[in-house]
Amino acid sequence: MKKNQDDASSINRRDFLKIGVAGAATIGLAGVESLLHAEPATAPVYRTLGRTGLKITTLSFGAMLTPEPEVIRAGFDMGINYVDTARRYLNGRSEGIVSKALEGIRDKVYVATKTQRESTTRDAVIKDIETSLAQLRTDHIDVIQLHGLDNPKQVSNAEAREAYTKAREQGKVRFFGVSTHTNQAEVVNAVVDDPDKFFDTVLVQYNFNADPAVKKAIARAKAAGIGVIAMKIQMGGYKTREEAKTITPEQAAANLKWVLQDTNVTTAIPGMRTVDQVTQMVAVMGTKLTNTDERILRRYAQAIDSYYCRLCGECEDSCPNGVAISTINRALMYAEGYREYKLAKATFDEVSTASLCSGCSECVAQCVNGLNIAQKMRQARHLFA
Ligand code: SF4
Ligand code: SF4
Repeated sequence: MKKNQDDASSINRRDFLKIGVAGAATIGLAGVESLLHAEPATAPVYRTLGRTGLKITTLSFGAMLTPEPEVIRAGFDMGINYVDTARRYLNGRSEGIVSKALEGIRDKVYVATKTQRESTTRDAVIKDIETSLAQLRTDHIDVIQLHGLDNPKQVSNAEAREAYTKAREQGKVRFFGVSTHTNQAEVVNAVVDDPDKFFDTVLVQYNFNADPAVKKAIARAKAAGIGVIAMKIQMGGYKTREEAKTITPEQAAANLKWVLQDTNVTTAIPGMRTVDQVTQMVAVMGTKLTNTDERILRRYAQAIDSYYCRLCGECEDSCPNGVAISTINRALMYAEGYREYKLAKATFDEVSTASLCSGCSECVAQCVNGLNIAQKMRQARHLFA
């Protein structure tokens, strides 16, 4: 996986990190290649992904926000050996971008992707797998996941299971997982309690602000031999300081340390957009959460408290129109935190109930965490409608 730096170029790694991939393009690919393949400063740390037996790095690459294959490749060359993508990310381009990052090293990296949320029939799921294999330019997917389950009943979808089983028999996929954003504890518990033990992994939102029920469900999953993959570890990645463009490196590192100190978590998949960010996050592997980190986390959580939605879904029963409030709030988080407007809009557009808010004279939905739901729904309509 790692290449040496014998062909050292006229710029050094520090220079590259400053100018980024786009700027480096002007100095020629050979120079960029040698820098991207530099030896990592920190030895990777591994944990076992539940009963799959895969030994994966505690920091994995969440490819959702990364349009440049060179940045993902830099992560692989620093030792990251697991990447998580989905076809819908980056407007359908993410799997193709990951395939470029994997050129020549496919056997060194485990690849996880997802079938489409709307694909619930056997044929639709099979078609999704075939499309992902083509986009990823690979003959197998290591972990295939049912995307975005928000109801524990979806865990038992017989047609999806049939499609996944067939794909495994054909050698096209190796292990099965689910991802969830809403009603996460219920979905994870349904995976744990499944008598067929069909799914091997769960991909869940987990961070300093996590619902205690999710923490408990994760512990049950680990005890049941299910690999736990943490996403949305940066609590939306909001910028909380005027002078910063995004979440600060200290905040990002503290978030990752907090997640990894829970040994029920196998790996975390933060989105990383630059080689600089990848380098900083790789260096966090194997380091301990400190008192300073905890202070940073408390301040960060406090700064975003009035608008950060934990996506628990607890408010949704209090809306007479059954609006998927947590999904709308997730769309807002993609826009305001990640600054990924297209993903945010696509997420909002998936909510068939979103328009019902405009016919509502007074919002009666109640947030268990004190968010002003009426204001959030207005904000979303204003931004996306
Ligand atoms: S405004 Fe509030 S109560 Fe009305 S539909 Fe929207 S979320 Fe539900
Ligand atoms: S608005 Fe509140 S209750 Fe609803 S999902 Fe978000 S945090 Fe949970």
